[in-house]
Amino acid sequence: MVRYVYEFAEGGRDRAGLLGGKGANLAEMTRLGLPVPPGFTITTEACRVFLGTGAEPEGLAREVSEHLLALEAAAGRRLGQPDDPLLLSVRSGARFSMPGMMETVLDIGLNDASVLGLAKVSGSERFAWDSYRRLVQMFGSTVMGVDAALFEQALARLKEVRGVPDDVHLDAADLAQLVETYKSLIHERTGEYFPQLPADQLYRSVLAVFESWNGDRARLYRRREHIPDDLGTAVNVQRMVFGNLGPDSGSGVAFTRDPATGRPGLYGDYLPDAQGEDVVAGIRNTVPLAELERLDARSYEELCAHMRTLERHYRDLCDIEFTIERGKLWMLQTRVGKRTAEAAFAIAAELIDEGLIPADEGLARVGGDGLARLMFPRFDVSATGSPLARGIPASPGAAVGAAVFDSAEAVRRAAAGEKVVLVRQETTPDDMPGMVAAQAVLTSRGGKTSHAAVVARGMGKVCVCGAEELTVDTEGRRLTTRDGQVVEEGTVLSVDGSAGAVYPGQVPLVDSAVMRYLETGEVDEASAELVGAVARALERADGVRRLEVRANADTPEDAARARRFGARGIGLCRTEHMFLGERRRLVEEMVLARGDAERDRALAALLPLQRRDFGGILEAMDGLPVTIRLLDPPLHEFLPDRTALAVRVAAAEARGDLPAAHDTELLAAVNRMHEENPMLGLRGVRLGLVVPGLVAMQVRAIAEAVVERVRAGGSPRAEIMVPLVGDVRELGIVREEVRRVLAEVSAASGVPVDCPVGTMIELPRAALTAGRIAGEAEFFSFGTNDLTQTTWGFSRDDVEAEFFSAYLDKGVFPVSPFETVDRDGVGRLISIAVAEGRAARPGLGIGVCGEHGGDPASVHFFHAAGLDYVSCSPFRVPVARLEAGRAAL
Ligand code: ADP
Ligand code: MG
Ligand code: MG
Repeated sequence: MVRYVYEFAEGGRDRAGLLGGKGANLAEMTRLGLPVPPGFTITTEACRVFLGTGAEPEGLAREVSEHLLALEAAAGRRLGQPDDPLLLSVRSGARFSMPGMMETVLDIGLNDASVLGLAKVSGSERFAWDSYRRLVQMFGSTVMGVDAALFEQALARLKEVRGVPDDVHLDAADLAQLVETYKSLIHERTGEYFPQLPADQLYRSVLAVFESWNGDRARLYRRREHIPDDLGTAVNVQRMVFGNLGPDSGSGVAFTRDPATGRPGLYGDYLPDAQGEDVVAGIRNTVPLAELERLDARSYEELCAHMRTLERHYRDLCDIEFTIERGKLWMLQTRVGKRTAEAAFAIAAELIDEGLIPADEGLARVGGDGLARLMFPRFDVSATGSPLARGIPASPGAAVGAAVFDSAEAVRRAAAGEKVVLVRQETTPDDMPGMVAAQAVLTSRGGKTSHAAVVARGMGKVCVCGAEELTVDTEGRRLTTRDGQVVEEGTVLSVDGSAGAVYPGQVPLVDSAVMRYLETGEVDEASAELVGAVARALERADGVRRLEVRANADTPEDAARARRFGARGIGLCRTEHMFLGERRRLVEEMVLARGDAERDRALAALLPLQRRDFGGILEAMDGLPVTIRLLDPPLHEFLPDRTALAVRVAAAEARGDLPAAHDTELLAAVNRMHEENPMLGLRGVRLGLVVPGLVAMQVRAIAEAVVERVRAGGSPRAEIMVPLVGDVRELGIVREEVRRVLAEVSAASGVPVDCPVGTMIELPRAALTAGRIAGEAEFFSFGTNDLTQTTWGFSRDDVEAEFFSAYLDKGVFPVSPFETVDRDGVGRLISIAVAEGRAARPGLGIGVCGEHGGDPASVHFFHAAGLDYVSCSPFRVPVARLEAGRAAL
């Protein structure tokens, strides 16, 4: 029989799939002997059944009441018992943490009778009514669906009437009045009364938590974080402990290290006389954790000891939530904490040094996306004036955008292509869409553990929080600085999430320390630790990886840079840009040529230019392979725009002039060559078969460049790559010509030139006939951009704006197949081509040169598919090296 409920003492961290992360870690802490209020976890499976069938899982109600009985027996009182109520929290907790995205209901078990009992046994009427109003508020919004803002407004109105700044100043009578206001609000909005039966409260809360899995903000968060939609959430039912019992009580959040930099040392925020929600919500300003040492030294010491235990046990940075009830410390949550990219590298290096984790695990814990982030530029400090305000550096990086004051506006402007900075007093989960849309998040309240900080860090988004000098006027859509400067919506701000400062206007950017190191090997003292940690991770990756990393580079400068970044060759040298600029005229001549002689003249003029192009690149990559792709795009891309040209000709005619003969001819050629579907038209190898002399010219340029390099004492290793082959005969014809030209150049120069000739595999037919193609191809390189287009039938240039967002919304794919390779379709073609290609030609060299070569998830696939190398843009080379290493672990 399926079991849906587990005591904390039965679970453990290895069961996060079933118990959710929170439940599994509560169990783990319980087993470690840490002070966790007792409780039980309802499994994610129960949630899946509920969401799948719409009905409560059979037997769940019975199991819950059995475990409730046990909990009551241990506590010696019943849930909601009128004279001394046992109170419970009902907490969501999925496999992957989704901070604040789902629901939690606290203080379950209070009603009109037990609130009086609680007042008596606790000796505090204020506490009892405060807890009751929290229950009605949370239950009303979460379970009964009343807009949470209405409760907030009622609370704000009452504070205003009483003339008090925050809720600790409301007394018991105020709070009792608030409960009445809340209750009538609920009745007014739902036609239902707030349920007085504790068992009803409990059960309805459990189902509401299940349902919150499918709430809008939870879905959005999952899409952003690529968390599958079908996991479901577990529900934790736990005895309440109270941080709102007066000044010797409180709640806090803490990290075992600084999550922004990774430096060791306790880090966190504490709020006296508060329940846990208040800390994260930024409702009142918290005090730093160090302050707790002064307020309650014993609890502080105990907390430190528990955190040491946790960091050693999890062998990683942990974050925790805790509550102190009248001097007694309770641990309410722990998990391996989210961190910045910088902290991830620093922590990995340090834990390796401490002997807590092996080097390979350190490598597994850092990632290419984080490395890419560390390579982003930073603000040029020498160019910054004085900041508008300083705040807490919650999530590093440099971002520039127009100030906006609510989530909807952020989304609106971002959709129109504008860069925005979302400015809020504090954020709530409802701000998620705006946070996703913004370049940076700026808040005037809340610490490093506030919602804004935690979520921004998780997303790698720049964030400065708690900029208390700023007055944020959401209604008026402006903010005011301490010295009275006003910033209206739409004003450009520069947000420095590393230093915790906000500047007016656009501050210029400079290279990051990591970038400077990767490019030049230079390290400045301030960033030595971080740079060292990155260097170590890369070194390890290079030591373990099987995949080689090359770069896509078309110029000597890019080739040289890629080499500094660690590229071992060029996997794709595109020749098309070499046909642009002043050379367009020669291309026009080639296209317009009347007869072979004219065309040969044009080609002959292009030859020395191409030779020089290739010579420079071969020199920059001396000793390493350089794969040069023959011309790929349709020739008309090099001709003038059809409409512009037609207008010019028509305008000349309208003036009564004779249009320039050249223009008329050109227009005729452009019309002749116009294609409805150029991506599927006359391009790639097809050009080589129909434009006489083109292949020969390019190959001659390559071969002569090789000869020149050899004569100069270099070791050029050019490889010739034929694009868009669909049939082995196409390749055979081109290869014949390549051989002829190579032989000619060898004979004429006396330098033997032998360049391997290979092909791109970028059409499904090529992949499916790879065995035959390998008969002519000395290497394969997957062009995954075209292969994705042609496999899906998506035109990359057209789809992204048109319907991809709908496809992402509807879950057709979790991420664009142009970003991460589609394993099931495109990936399958790749696997077939690898297997059949190598069967036909053992040892066939195979790489990939699409954008996917620098995408972390795709690199893992290419490793598994048995490729020899990935080739990506120079800036992604370090990312690919790191991920290739991680893939090999
Ligand atoms: P989230 O996943 O959004 O962090 P939690 O389930 O952790 O939600 O609950 C939010 C807050 O409620 C926590 O910060 C914690 O302080 C408080 N809370 C949860 N359970 C209890 C409990 N048993 N006793 C006291 N406070 C609790
Ligand atoms: Mg929590
Ligand atoms: Mg292509």
